[in-house]
Amino acid sequence: MIYFVCRHNKQTRPAPLFACSLWQLSPGGSYLLARPSTADQVLVRKLNTSRVLNCLRTHRPLSRAGLSTATGLNRSTVSRLIGQLLEEGLVREIGLHQSSKGRPGMLLELKPEAGCAVGVEIGVDLVSVVLTDFVAKVLWRERVSADSQDTQAAILQRAEALVQEALEVGQSRGLRHLGIGLGVPGLVDFGEGCLVFAPNLGWRDVPLREIWGRRFDLPVYVENEANAAALGEYYFGVARDVQSLIYLSAGIGLGGGIIINGRLFRGSCGCAGEVGHMTIEPGGQLCGCGKRGCWETVVGPRAIVRRVREALEGGGESLIHDLVDGDLDRIDVDLVVQAAESGDPLAKGALGEISVQLGIGIANLVNIFNPEMVVLGGALSLASPFLLPVINETVREHALARPGEIVEVSASAHGADTCVMGAVALVLDEILREPSLSPLAPRVPPALVPQLK
Ligand SMILES: [Zn+2]
Repeated sequence: MIYFVCRHNKQTRPAPLFACSLWQLSPGGSYLLARPSTADQVLVRKLNTSRVLNCLRTHRPLSRAGLSTATGLNRSTVSRLIGQLLEEGLVREIGLHQSSKGRPGMLLELKPEAGCAVGVEIGVDLVSVVLTDFVAKVLWRERVSADSQDTQAAILQRAEALVQEALEVGQSRGLRHLGIGLGVPGLVDFGEGCLVFAPNLGWRDVPLREIWGRRFDLPVYVENEANAAALGEYYFGVARDVQSLIYLSAGIGLGGGIIINGRLFRGSCGCAGEVGHMTIEPGGQLCGCGKRGCWETVVGPRAIVRRVREALEGGGESLIHDLVDGDLDRIDVDLVVQAAESGDPLAKGALGEISVQLGIGIANLVNIFNPEMVVLGGALSLASPFLLPVINETVREHALARPGEIVEVSASAHGADTCVMGAVALVLDEILREPSLSPLAPRVPPALVPQLK
């Protein structure tokens, strides 16, 4: 096949069938006709393999003819790629499909036993680990609590013990280990696999990929928790049918993960998505980042609790008083939602006020990024039944007409597992996006030792 290469951004696109290798310019003049080198052919093959795998991920099962239609690749290319993927054990044939016209075709899908991935979430108060197969079905999970008094070494050791247990489960099932994904609440250098700064953990410059890569001898992917969660929703959550989305992560603060055209947008230095720190109330409450009036101080979990507390201290009547036995320090978002579910007017009122401010911020994001979906995660997903109607109304009111009509605001599909499933998505994303064309050799990490040192 002949490809055009864009003069400006070097992206490729297939040339029309009638293109001739003597042409130097595409008809529009902005594309140079490329005579593919060996390196180009390898790249094109990788891209095509990725298209086929991702098509099977989102549309499974499909026949070769169906794949050809869905990917736009010709049938012989699809057949050649499928032959390779069958050999590598990444896809499997599951039976004949009798279509209304033409010969029956063999249906294909991703092979669940192609391997297993480990997802890890290191949070402020927990360590969570899951083991999944190649189609993200959870095979094993464990979660332990952490304490703010725990040292970094103690938390890492606890996480390593769980990862090892997960790998042993995978090994006992005869599954090859595909890699380890790790979501952490802080700024991450994804390229280096290094946690740069996690203010709520108090960690700085921790080369997690290097540490775990050496220990487990597997690919290790480290990502900010909101970015990982966004990828998790894109791969196997509410956003699996969209290409552009913004995930809002409400834990202690308010973070965001942005996916544009199926890829995480990390920005120039990995800081993209810090939507909680856009100024929405100049001169407002002091934020953890040191500025005032950030969106996080208006709609984050702490803001929800603060509003309810102020209303109660101002003499407001609410069953939250009874739920916390008069101890206002015990109020959290779970309790506010619980009260709202019981019809408590004060709790519902507080969530209503939040949802207007959430809607205004989301409308700003919609105008900038034009996403197909905005996903509410963490504490916001718990409260979503009370938030979504007003958010949707506010977005329609404040966003530009066309992007405001298109966007759908949804609650996360994974609840408390959003980050850890996102960590699994980091591993699968790497394989589905950059599939190796040489067989992935079955491997057992040599570092699988019985006990931690
Ligand atoms: Zn801030």
